[in-house]
Amino acid sequence: MFSRRFIPMIVDFLPTRAIKNSISPSRKTCLLVQYNMYASSAKSKGQKTGRRCWKCNVEIKSTVEFFCPSCNIIQSPSKKATYFELMSSPKTFDINTTQLAERYKELQWKLHPDKFSELSKEEKSLSEEQSSLVNEAYHTLLKPLNRGLYLLNLKGVPITEDEATSRDVKFLAVIMDKYEQIASDEKKIKEVYQENNGDLKKCLKNVSSAFEKGDIETARQEVVKLNYYSKIDEFIKDQES
Ligand SMILES: [Zn+2]
Repeated sequence: MFSRRFIPMIVDFLPTRAIKNSISPSRKTCLLVQYNMYASSAKSKGQKTGRRCWKCNVEIKSTVEFFCPSCNIIQSPSKKATYFELMSSPKTFDINTTQLAERYKELQWKLHPDKFSELSKEEKSLSEEQSSLVNEAYHTLLKPLNRGLYLLNLKGVPITEDEATSRDVKFLAVIMDKYEQIASDEKKIKEVYQENNGDLKKCLKNVSSAFEKGDIETARQEVVKLNYYSKIDEFIKDQES
């Protein structure tokens, strides 16, 4: 039966998951741990990059240069470039995802490890590093939830795992109710999906306007809510695929 089959998965999505995770030693770490390396870069604007070509030793002035401007050989990823800089996107929540996809394609074409298969070991391995960095940057900026989390990280106020659990009891009751409806009646899935989609869109607007106003506290609260709406959205889409 539907409900029996899906309830364990539903439970996994409830806030208790975040509580369970918070017991782990990494509880104080950022929700997106892997971005820490690039998070400090926001403050480094205007400074010298300190990068030199590993082959010809020419200084590489731009943080987003993938190749040496002199000998054109592939370089190691710049630790100072943000994902926004790498993807030539403005550092805002509202970005043009069509342009983002175009930049991604362009970079993957230039950096794809297949293009380096005849070249030296170093070049091959650097192309793998650069290519996977671009992949990470693209997927982070593509999804609004990840983009919001990343922006908060860049602003020095990452959402930790414990903070990812909303303290808003009314809001949590609404979320629980959505999961209960999905579990209890298969016919309600479409209805819940549409309702959740509306909530998700409203929430996206709130996140966007909070970032635009520089109201970081509201942005943080709304990103936490966005996490819940996105999970319901993904959950229903997974059921239907
Ligand atoms: Zn060079």
